[in-house]
Amino acid sequence: MAEISFELSDDQKEVRDWIHGFAADVIRPAAAEWDEREETPWPIIQEAAKIGLYSLDFYAQQYFDPSGLGLPMTMEELFWGDAGIALSIVGTGLAAVGVLANGTEEQIGTWIPQMYGDPDDVKVAAFCSSEPDAGSDVGSMRTRAVYDEAKDEWVLNGTKTWATNGGIANVHVVVAVVDPELGSKGHASFIIPPNTPGLSQGQKFKKHGIRASHTAEVVLDQVRVPGSCLLGGKEKLDERLARAREKARTGGERVKNAAMATFEASRPAVGAMAVGTARAAYEVALDYARTRQQFGRPIIDNQGVAFQLADMRTRIDAARLLVWRASWMAANGKPFESAEGSMSKLFASETAKQVTAQAVQILGGNGFTREYPVERMHRDAAIYTIFEGTSEIQRLVIARTVSGVQIR
Ligand SMILES: Cc1cc2nc3c(=O)[nH]c(=O)nc-3n(C[C@H](O)[C@H](O)[C@H](O)COP(=O)(O)OP(=O)(O)OC[C@H]3O[C@@H](n4cnc5c(N)ncnc54)[C@H](O)[C@@H]3O)c2cc1C
Repeated sequence: MAEISFELSDDQKEVRDWIHGFAADVIRPAAAEWDEREETPWPIIQEAAKIGLYSLDFYAQQYFDPSGLGLPMTMEELFWGDAGIALSIVGTGLAAVGVLANGTEEQIGTWIPQMYGDPDDVKVAAFCSSEPDAGSDVGSMRTRAVYDEAKDEWVLNGTKTWATNGGIANVHVVVAVVDPELGSKGHASFIIPPNTPGLSQGQKFKKHGIRASHTAEVVLDQVRVPGSCLLGGKEKLDERLARAREKARTGGERVKNAAMATFEASRPAVGAMAVGTARAAYEVALDYARTRQQFGRPIIDNQGVAFQLADMRTRIDAARLLVWRASWMAANGKPFESAEGSMSKLFASETAKQVTAQAVQILGGNGFTREYPVERMHRDAAIYTIFEGTSEIQRLVIARTVSGVQIR
């Protein structure tokens, strides 16, 4: 087991500085433009692909870093550059993790390369779980997958919503109900290969923040995929369903479904994104407070401003520590006995909202305009308390875990 340390290794520092360089030189200067365009920044994804930053190899290296710090470090630096563009770069990773976590070796080898494409022809992927009537309440999912035994094919019907890269992805990973009796235990994930008939993009959302990231509905109308597109394979699914039916019949202990376990492990990564946005806004506010003069002195000379900056910095560091702890635990196989993954996401996302609001305040009128980046960062920060489980759901998970009471 790797010892805990807050000192990054020389290799990690080198990678961090390399990502930071890309974030500072390529992402940040393009942020305002793509926010206004509200489109996927394909040229920037392509630049990231050309230097190896948008690739399965790089993502997997950071994801499997034994210290656990590779992924949060990557997220923090990219999102420091800009949240919308960074989400366009890492959005594919969520779908890739779904396959890495639940897929067979053959599925991993076949589909993940197609999610990324290659530097001359970059592709993205989408992970589609949420539905119009199943957001926080994943158990209400309606998208159905029915097995056609004669053809060894699955037939999917339903509507997914809020899918990052939905409809523009080369490969979609779709969660669907295979046994409605079992609630969320009766779900399974499917690969929808490129250009599969019946899959189409519904509404594309016009958003408050992270506008450079594409978010849309995905409609599945009689979508047929080969049996080999069921993640993990039919045998494993049948075994899992049989266990869940047995548990339901005998009232045995609750088992987490695979998608939920993936979310709990991915939450620190979202916390790290929030830390990146918060740090970016804090740095702009600190610079501004040092140079902006009122009453014949820089505004930072006033405790009213300086103490806000002190609080902002303290919260950001505390958030990063919670994220690193959870990431280290996940990498070292330590179970989240006190919902540490949720704690890190809750605290970091609330920090990003608070710190970016303070940054707008410190910049005064300028903070309220699109001339300065804190206005955009403040809009972007609102997403962290919503996606991958809202703050209320994180509190529910933490409260249930630490109390053992099935709080509603
Ligand atoms: C920009 C963006 C990108 C996204 N990307 C993806 C993606 O790639 N793939 C994907 O599958 N999903 C994605 N999502 C969906 C996201 O995960 C959901 O929006 C989120 O889970 C909340 O679901 P909801 O919007 O239906 O809100 P609801 O579940 O309707 O919640 C509404 C409010 O009620 C509160 N609430 C609900 N239940 C409880 C409760 N039991 N106790 C207390 N409060 C409660 C919530 O906290 C929230 O404040 C994305 C969303 C957005 C906005």
